[in-house]
Amino acid sequence: MDSITARNLLKLQEIDEKIEEVKSRLEKIPTEIKHLQEEKQKVIDEYEKILIQKKQLELTKKEKELDIQDLQQRIKKIEDRLNTVKSNDEYKALLREKAQAEESIIHLEDEIINIMEEIENISKKIKEFEKERDKKIQEIENQIESKQKEIEELNNQIQNLTKEREELIKHLKPQDIAQYENIKKKVKTKVIAVVDDQVCTGCYMVIPPKVFTELLKTENLLRCPNCGRYLFYESK
Ligand SMILES: [Zn+2]
Repeated sequence: MDSITARNLLKLQEIDEKIEEVKSRLEKIPTEIKHLQEEKQKVIDEYEKILIQKKQLELTKKEKELDIQDLQQRIKKIEDRLNTVKSNDEYKALLREKAQAEESIIHLEDEIINIMEEIENISKKIKEFEKERDKKIQEIENQIESKQKEIEELNNQIQNLTKEREELIKHLKPQDIAQYENIKKKVKTKVIAVVDDQVCTGCYMVIPPKVFTELLKTENLLRCPNCGRYLFYESK
C-alpha cells in the first residue's frame, strides 16, 4: 500500500469518525426533546392543579353558605313555634335548639373566613404562576425548536459527509476499502493510527524499534504489532 492510499484511508477514517459522531449526537436529541415536552406538560399540569384547588375551595365555601341558609331557616321556624308553644318544657327545648343552630352558624362563618383567606392566597399564587408559566413554556418551546433545527443541521452534515465519502472511495481500490472495513470491525475505532513519538495512537503502545525503523524507510503501510491497526507516520 502506497502513501497516497494511506492518506486517502486516513481521510476516509476521519469522515467515518465524523459521521459516527454526528449520528450519535442525532440519536440523543429525540430523548432530549421528549424530556423538554414532559417538562412543559408538568408546568401545564401544575397550573391545572392549583386551578382545581381553587375551585374546590370555592365549592366548599358555597356548601357552607348553604348550610348557614338552612340553619337560618330552621331558626325562623323555631321562632314561629316559640310564639305558639304551650308547655314550658317544649319552650325550653326550642330555645336550646335555637341556640345550637346559632352556634353552628358562628362556627360555619369562621370556617368560611378561613376558606376565603385560602382562596385569596391561592389566587395570588395563580397570578404569579401565570406569569412564570408563560415564560417557562416559551423557554421550553424555544429549546425544542433549536433542537429540531439541530436535527436538520446534523442531517445535512451527514449528507455532505456521505457525498464526500463517496467521492473519496472512487480514489481507493476495493480491496483496500475491504481491508479497512475488516480492521474496523475488529478495532472499532481508528483503523489507521497516526504514529506519534514512536507510539501507536490506536493502542498507545510503543512501536518496537525494528518496526519503527522500517516505518521510516518504507512506502508501505505497516500494521501495529500490538493492535493490528495501520500505522501512519509523517516525519515532522
Ligand atoms: Zn497499536
